[in-house]
Amino acid sequence: MTRKTGLILGDQLSDSIATLTLLDRQRDLIVMAEVASEATYVKHHKQKIALIFSAMRHFAQRLRDHGWQVHYHEYRSDSAAKTLLDVVSSVINTTTTNELVITECGDYRLQHEMTTAWQSQLCCPVTILEDRRFVSSRQNFADWAGGRKQLRMEYFYRDMRRSTGLLMDGDKPIGGEWNFDSQNRQPFQGKHPLHQPEKFTRDNIDNTVLNLVAREFADHPGSLTNFNWPTTREQALLALTGFIEHRLPLFGDYQDAMVQNQHTLFHSLLSTSLNCGLLTPLEVCRAAEQAYMSDTAPLNAVEGFIRQIIGWREYVRGLYWLLMPDYASNNHFGNTRPLPDFYWHGDTRMNCMQQCFINTFDNAYAHHIQRLMITGNFALLAGITPAQVCDWYLAVYADAFDWVELPNTLGMVMHADGGIMASKPYAASGSYINRMSDYCKHCQYNVKTVSEPDSCPFNSLYWHFINRHGNTLRNNPRMTMIYRSYAKMDDDKKQRIQLRATQLLEQLNDL
Ligand code: FAD
Ligand code: SF4
Repeated sequence: MTRKTGLILGDQLSDSIATLTLLDRQRDLIVMAEVASEATYVKHHKQKIALIFSAMRHFAQRLRDHGWQVHYHEYRSDSAAKTLLDVVSSVINTTTTNELVITECGDYRLQHEMTTAWQSQLCCPVTILEDRRFVSSRQNFADWAGGRKQLRMEYFYRDMRRSTGLLMDGDKPIGGEWNFDSQNRQPFQGKHPLHQPEKFTRDNIDNTVLNLVAREFADHPGSLTNFNWPTTREQALLALTGFIEHRLPLFGDYQDAMVQNQHTLFHSLLSTSLNCGLLTPLEVCRAAEQAYMSDTAPLNAVEGFIRQIIGWREYVRGLYWLLMPDYASNNHFGNTRPLPDFYWHGDTRMNCMQQCFINTFDNAYAHHIQRLMITGNFALLAGITPAQVCDWYLAVYADAFDWVELPNTLGMVMHADGGIMASKPYAASGSYINRMSDYCKHCQYNVKTVSEPDSCPFNSLYWHFINRHGNTLRNNPRMTMIYRSYAKMDDDKKQRIQLRATQLLEQLNDL
């Protein structure tokens, strides 16, 4: 009997994955594999590896329970099969497979291998199906982008609202505005109790994987102690319900806030479940919309949350596939400085950075503003090589997959694409961090000064960044005010700032 073999990847753990639609559960075989090449091509955080392996093993079990035949390759450091191609070839050579079926992957690197080396090295045809789990197809995004001078997320998002009908009243946005972001920039002042994310009980599969990762990936960054990611669809649904009930109502108000030792605030922590396929973007958005309709969450929160998913998430994916592979090598500012060591060991006197590193290494998580305005902002101001910054974000977050990490880091944080993604760099001094957090109160540096020996590094580095990129940024209409302020600054102050920044840049590892 000839049959098809379907490969399911670690971020394709959805009942609706296209691969299953082409297979017959009685006749065909599904392959899933934990391999060294995927687990180590960057030094992924231990929790990220544990999450993906455990969610894969649970999904394999779910498929078997539904009558599918699954060949599951568990990770072993001494296994001869080091790559997905090794595993797939060996299955195909030992069975009577006449076709390999795959759903396109979220990573250009692997997708490129599949469409080139795999097609020529396997002794059967390879069929690659479109990934239909996104709201907008790659073609739809390319059609939207075609002929536009600027690819602004806001206009794409409005089209997504129209096409999904989310928060729409006919062809008008509910509430009369498309975007309520101006209401979503409050610092958190402790007026509301914080609700901690749901705790999940760990089963034998989780515990086996956690032990495996502790043993085999001991030299990878991060700790497994706080591992609490959903590894099954049932847990992901519980996480969704808990968020909608307890944190969504204040998600909008405090979306940009940061608080000492409080690492999740009102965020959803749903990105890992969305990115692995345990939840679909539309079911998450419909659950949020329902909370607005039943009056349990206000419009600024629900709109803000839905915008992150059908707006930003879909937009970055569209941009990635539109612009890869050239996009990854962009370096608009020509940065060459290496990533400071503290990004890997987490030890620095800058309290805001330290807080983000604690969250990152303990939880494989940091919320958006921590990623963008603290660790990202620092890398932008210090002129770090974009590729090294991208590798770091790809490694340390449990939700990091190339299609979503790369545009966020290279485009949004580093402005390395020259403004395709963001109309101006997200550069900020310590004043922004002081306004949106209580970090500066607990810091050894003084956020109120610029050029003293204990002045906040973000302050002088900010003006150094503004000064050194004057040629490219001065004419940006959104930067006019900043360049006017800089022009008014007296020369003596400018010199002191430049001196302080130069000293900092020479000893970045000691900050
Ligand atoms: P919430 O704040 O609760 O937001 C809800 C959901 O919206 C998220 O789960 C996510 O699916 C989506 N979302 C929000 N912002 C974005 C965005 N900018 N791009 C895409 N989706 C978004 N997100 C990833 O999923 N994977 C990454 O590798 C990743 N890397 C990032 C790197 C940098 C430098 C920056 C600035 C952002 C990155 N993001 C990434 C986007 C965002 O920070 C995370 O999605 C978010 O912090 C995940 O936490 P949450 O689920 O609690 O999100
Ligand atoms: Fe960060 Fe500067 Fe505030 Fe310290 S003073 S927490 S370095 S912004």
